[in-house]
Amino acid sequence: MKKIYMVSSEVSPFAKTGGLGDVLGSLPEAIAKLGNDVRVVMPKYGLIAPEYVEQMEFLFFIYVPVGWRNKYCGVFELQKNGVTYYFIDNEYYFGDPHIYKWNDLERFSFFARAAVQILQNLKWRPDIIHCHDWQAGAIPVLLDAHYRKDMFYSGIKTIFTIHNLAYQGIYDIDTVKDFLSLKDSYFTNDKLEFHGGANLLKAGLVYSDYITTVSPTYSEEIKSEAYDEGLEGLLRARANSLCGIINGINYDEYSPKTDKLIFENYDSRNFAAGKRNNKLFLQEELGLEVNPDIPMFGIVSRLVGQKGFGLLGEILPALSQMDIQLVILGTGDEQIENMFRHEAWCNPSKISANITFNNTLAHKIYASCDMFLMPSLFEPCGLSQMISLSYGTIPIVRETGGLADTIQPYNEFDDIGNGFTFAAANSADMMFTIKRALEFYKNKTAWKSLVRRGMKENFSWDNSAKSYEEIYEKIL
Ligand code: ADP
Repeated sequence: MKKIYMVSSEVSPFAKTGGLGDVLGSLPEAIAKLGNDVRVVMPKYGLIAPEYVEQMEFLFFIYVPVGWRNKYCGVFELQKNGVTYYFIDNEYYFGDPHIYKWNDLERFSFFARAAVQILQNLKWRPDIIHCHDWQAGAIPVLLDAHYRKDMFYSGIKTIFTIHNLAYQGIYDIDTVKDFLSLKDSYFTNDKLEFHGGANLLKAGLVYSDYITTVSPTYSEEIKSEAYDEGLEGLLRARANSLCGIINGINYDEYSPKTDKLIFENYDSRNFAAGKRNNKLFLQEELGLEVNPDIPMFGIVSRLVGQKGFGLLGEILPALSQMDIQLVILGTGDEQIENMFRHEAWCNPSKISANITFNNTLAHKIYASCDMFLMPSLFEPCGLSQMISLSYGTIPIVRETGGLADTIQPYNEFDDIGNGFTFAAANSADMMFTIKRALEFYKNKTAWKSLVRRGMKENFSWDNSAKSYEEIYEKIL
């Protein structure tokens, strides 16, 4: 039995903005099921639902240094499905209902320090601290700078998982130095320095014992110059301690057979009527033309450039002239939000733009649509394409990162594949692929076989959890 301590800014169902939250909502349980003692720590945000806050037990409080200041740190605990969750409480940093804010450097410097410091009070010494994304990136360097001399912390190993290399936590050196109480020697370009700033994701990459990322293809892509995030040299240098493990999805949450959030349940043996009825209800709910024969495309996503909405924008006017419907759910860049708002305003019976975060609507869209659009420019793993498959909604994706690892292009001659894909980041190729999918959609027999095959895919966490366990064993 290994003792694993996971540190993340998002953990579903407590707080989530995207895939990071989903992963932390499932991976710890899957690793605990293999017989390990898994504990997770996250901030006690003001947006955590009261039903969970009521279940939390207050353990103790300590004071945690943030530079020269000492800040209150309350610790709450909650047990769920074999995993212990700790919540770091500080009203000033985390009390309001936002996960990310303008002062994230200070908030997550405090969080990283608190996550390490509370271990002594808990009298629980993990074998491995598993850090997720830049918000936990300071932990390996904090251990090096402040804690390793202490016997309690000396042998603890660290793993850093990159969920998205595009978010690196880059701030000015003086402020990082202050908040983390780090000496000048930590800010050379082989350590935290990055183009004149300090990079907290880089801190995780340099100081952890092992690095993982969330799909095999992405783990290769990020080592190439073409990827252009500025860390390819470091990632190549650490190639022997870097691998990609594909994420899974939680079938307790994303299964059309049992999902309580969708209009009508169905399964892979009997889905035609179920999907049709879900579509009719959603059309009604969103004010679209109610007609089961119109092919419906879905998007559930953060509305950011990474997701390929520039490509989609180029063909959106043409798409809205076709006999299709498009349902968008997401929030993000104002420009992208407005692009969808405008197109929906012009075509209210065909396009529905829901610029909000709404889990119930997300489930309804996965269940109701015929196809799911994910033309990402890059995609570390992507969960939405796997969720779509579970609901019999066929993904149309660009071949990048985890999308390339999970979606195999449909081949009508051999009847294989589970979606439609295109390689170049080019809107004409995307349009061609959409039209190709629409041709097969008309062939009811071929489409049913494609849908059934997709629904039978298994992206459960079991295999990925075993791969993480192998890495834990390797570094111990
Ligand atoms: P990323 O991690 O880049 O955001 P993923 O595809 O890995 O992308 O995961 C996105 C997750 O967030 C999925 O579970 C998706 O359903 C959910 N999601 C994204 N935007 C919304 C939204 N506006 N409302 C509800 N769920 C959303």
